[in-house]
Amino acid sequence: MNFYLLFFLLIVIVGLVVSYIYFMREKKANLLAIEQGICPKCEQLAMELIDQRSTGCSGPKMLTFECKNCKYVGTFHVNSRGCSSGSCEF
Ligand SMILES: [Zn+2]
Repeated sequence: MNFYLLFFLLIVIVGLVVSYIYFMREKKANLLAIEQGICPKCEQLAMELIDQRSTGCSGPKMLTFECKNCKYVGTFHVNSRGCSSGSCEF
């Protein structure tokens, strides 16, 4: 394989990984704020949980939050608590 092509691919992959990590970090910071009821967009204490869906016992939960002030909507996937230990009961 051409060395320059390999080098180019490496740069593309590193760029993707870095942007992914940055995106996840920002997403996590947003989730932390939203869990406290703070909107990441207008920074008002107006976030409300409008939808909560679970894809099953071991699956992640989908939480949808909406800001009552600026109508910002955020969707987050969180791992449900208590199920990873195998203590989940139906
Ligand atoms: Zn807002």
